[in-house]
Amino acid sequence: MANKLHLKITTPEKVIFEGDVDEVLVPGSNGELGILPNHTHILANLKVGELKIKKEGTWDHFAIMGGFVEVGEENNIKILADAAEHAEDIDEAKAMEAKERAESLLKEKREDVKFTEASVMLERSLARIRVAQRKKKYKAKTY
Ligand code: ATP
Repeated sequence: MANKLHLKITTPEKVIFEGDVDEVLVPGSNGELGILPNHTHILANLKVGELKIKKEGTWDHFAIMGGFVEVGEENNIKILADAAEHAEDIDEAKAMEAKERAESLLKEKREDVKFTEASVMLERSLARIRVAQRKKKYKAKTY
């Protein structure tokens, strides 16, 4: 039995990651979903959150802005994300700015489209900040 997963993470802009990994944890709409080799075929929605990949004993972290995951034949996993960044590529200052902008829009308590947009912006920025900070915390550490 094959013991690796062939993972490809794509956004409308580019391929973020492609390679063989041991385990994938994705933010499913009903909670975190763990995928190991020989997982059954699934197609699931992803929410904004953290995507984790285990490769050669080390976990790698990505911020993902929603999308979907397909586990197909022969351990092929495709993740199509609205946007995604590897922890190392996240501009934390930009995410902090977005968080502040979102929070000040939310304080206006407007019940229109702007409110929904600000909620999404806040959710995205918090995911980016969480992943960027995790990178610092666990740098050079395997767990
Ligand atoms: P914001 O939510 O800060 O206004 P945005 O609207 O530009 O940012 P998105 O629409 O989520 O953000 O993403 C647009 C592109 O910018 C994507 O390629 C995404 O990966 C990238 N991006 C957005 N924020 C960051 C960040 N803080 N660090 C790195 N890349 C980012």
